[in-house]
Amino acid sequence: MFNITFSSPHSRIHSLSFRKTKIVATIGPASWDEDKLQALIKAGMNVARLNFSHGTFEQHQSTVEKIRKLSSDLHAPVGILQDLQGPKIRLQSFEGERELESGQKIIVTGKGSKDDEKYIVDIDHLSQFVEVGQAIFIDDGIIELKVTDKKGEDLHCEVIHGGLVRGRKGVNLPDANLPIESMTAKDIADLEAGAALGFDYVALSFVRTKDDIKKLKKRLKELGSHSRVVAKIEMKEAIKNIEGIIDESDAIMIARGDLAVEIGQVHLPVVQKKITKLCNRKGKPVITATQMLDSMQHNSRPTRAEITDVANAVLDGSDALMLSGESAFGNYPVRSVQTMHDIIMEVEKQPGIYYKFKNRRPDRPTVPDTIAMSAVTCSEQLQARTIVCLSTTGKTAQMISKYRPKAKLIAATSEKEALSRLELCWGIQTLQIDRYSNIEEAFSQIEGLLIGHGIIKEGDYVVLTLGLPVLEGQKTNSLRVFTVGKEQAQTKYKKGKKPIRFFAEQ
Ligand code: PEP
Repeated sequence: MFNITFSSPHSRIHSLSFRKTKIVATIGPASWDEDKLQALIKAGMNVARLNFSHGTFEQHQSTVEKIRKLSSDLHAPVGILQDLQGPKIRLQSFEGERELESGQKIIVTGKGSKDDEKYIVDIDHLSQFVEVGQAIFIDDGIIELKVTDKKGEDLHCEVIHGGLVRGRKGVNLPDANLPIESMTAKDIADLEAGAALGFDYVALSFVRTKDDIKKLKKRLKELGSHSRVVAKIEMKEAIKNIEGIIDESDAIMIARGDLAVEIGQVHLPVVQKKITKLCNRKGKPVITATQMLDSMQHNSRPTRAEITDVANAVLDGSDALMLSGESAFGNYPVRSVQTMHDIIMEVEKQPGIYYKFKNRRPDRPTVPDTIAMSAVTCSEQLQARTIVCLSTTGKTAQMISKYRPKAKLIAATSEKEALSRLELCWGIQTLQIDRYSNIEEAFSQIEGLLIGHGIIKEGDYVVLTLGLPVLEGQKTNSLRVFTVGKEQAQTKYKKGKKPIRFFAEQ
């Protein structure tokens, strides 16, 4: 029944090149020094998340510069994600802290009140948008209030779950219909300043509809930015509109922190699985985020529940898993990445996570999509260990990734921009090649590099997808299978700095 071999608990699995599920690590004071960033890249960070809810623009700019330099020196593409704060609702500041006891009666009111006894939320005319009976949460849902009455601008509330409250703590009003824009003045300023830094991804917080994504895309286009858009799913309304949001976005983040408060914590596991499944079906990368190894902010080892949470997120089909406080503020940022890597590697030994075709075929398949699926079938039938996708934007590589091949999936491109962007997607490794004008020229380079990097050897099948004729810039329309011959294996060795992801051992 159990077909499992247990590796020694003390031997770490080092190889970055075999891991399919990617790791996003949030950068903060615990990790923004150059030596820490270098260690994070070597430990397997694929994407660095810069959280614009914290830190100054100058700090983020300096982090981007350091990562880009390290990435080039180490020959390791790293995606960088700008996470916009979004319209986070907060309590206005007050001195010290206040103890709220269950059953206590308090008054919550909107912006403009000068009454220090009340709890002031930074929204104009708050009471217009909240109904009696609705819940108000403070500080990531730790404190729960129930609105019992409305009098003018004031909401009379009963404390359901008490605790200590400080000023500026986050407020969630899951059932209120608040008139808030998807991007605040700060977000727009961060986006404008960030455009010059060339982020691979911009994440939008508190997305409610696909129109929020459309607005961000329009803004990015006006700024001349090529950043792709990640929708953070953390509101009840987003769940109602999830299909449209996934279709409009380039990737999805299941932002479990706010989402749990908004939908009620007991609903989180099932909702998380449903979003993941939908993203898998639509071929959109999905990041599972928040508290994955939370206790590692303070402890050098995770809890059993955290190990299982990471493992289940992999088994469910996440493209990437995210570290937040663990890598940004914690005592063990590098160890958190290593631990996540080790858990993922162990889970990815399970054959059940590969070759997913059921429910993933698009309703109206295109030629590239059909070639992508065929490439995976072909690799499965021939037991080919490598699929190479010749790509400009990386789109076909993403389509192949959707079908979860067991073979190494290598996106070979001469476009630098695509390299770091693809770091978010399940199973994709990138290979930078020179421009080519025909299939022979392209394959000869790839073959040389892959032989040189020890990825392929004599007798191996390589499944190749590309658009022909090459010089006409055709979309993917062709599939070829090459067998590495003795001659190639001996003569085509092309020396070059080996990308870090191709090393068997770090
Ligand atoms: C979350 O709420 O889980 C999340 C990732 O968003 P943030 O860290 O920006 O609150």
